[in-house]
Amino acid sequence: AASINRSRSTTNALYGGIEAGGTKFVCAVGSGPEDIRDEIRFPTTAPDETLPLAINFFRRYAGQETLAAIGVSCFGPVDPNPASPTFGYVTTTPKPHWAHTDVVGRLRHALNIPVGFDTDVNGAALGEHRWGAAQGLDTFVYLTIGTGLGGGGMVNGQLLHGLMHAEMGHTRIPHDWEHDPYGGNCPYHGDCWEGLACGPAIEARWQTPGQDLAPNHPAWALEAHYLALGVANITLMLSPQRIIMGGGVMDQQQLFPLVRKEVQTLLNGYVQKPEILERIDDYIVPPGLGNRAGVLGAIALAIHAAGA
Ligand code: ZN
Repeated sequence: AASINRSRSTTNALYGGIEAGGTKFVCAVGSGPEDIRDEIRFPTTAPDETLPLAINFFRRYAGQETLAAIGVSCFGPVDPNPASPTFGYVTTTPKPHWAHTDVVGRLRHALNIPVGFDTDVNGAALGEHRWGAAQGLDTFVYLTIGTGLGGGGMVNGQLLHGLMHAEMGHTRIPHDWEHDPYGGNCPYHGDCWEGLACGPAIEARWQTPGQDLAPNHPAWALEAHYLALGVANITLMLSPQRIIMGGGVMDQQQLFPLVRKEVQTLLNGYVQKPEILERIDDYIVPPGLGNRAGVLGAIALAIHAAGA
């Protein structure tokens, strides 16, 4: 292995980020939103194929002794507890070949630099805290609504971990069977929040991909209703100062005003805070980093791992 500069000087330090999604890996090198030097993306196939592609990409920079650390925002479930023997593993995923994969160990062994690791949503939350829509907050939630539905974030200034990590997408919301006979697509629960509201559920319910449904299609009012139920629960459960909603489904910008209004209706004046009653446009927001939240979040995890 190359000898590594462990001074961790922040001067000219570069960081690597891996947005490790279930369908694709995005790898980047840089130091923040205004400074991405290089980027590569490739499909997530099997660990023996996908991880070496990432390692080869970063090895060029590690060889220059300028790469201070890398961070991985990873699809899951994962083990994000540094004290656990399986820290840095993808654990029980149904994705073929990836169950019980030591992602951090393989990267650290190959690159010999610190590796930060967390869930995809906690990574994105950290990026939003550093550069995006959660700057200055200490308690907030980042949700992604896309191929799946997941949530992470920060409570009192610490990324949310605990027993494992939050699995907000698998919480339960009331299922409107009368207007929505679709049973949901979660292999574990059927009509949990993810099972009713993720992108593939929209496609299965309406027999049309979401991006092909007109902005005034009834699909979006139902989607906003389901999203608002979960968002209201999170508001009451964690008392976040802001809720950031990203992911491919939220590219449907018409959802934001529908969700905000429905959250106000559901809370029904109970949370007497101007953030809910008067400024909900600033309470439920898209990511400040847009569709870069994932990969920049991974770089934020790297910066954190380097102690910078
Ligand atoms: Zn579920």
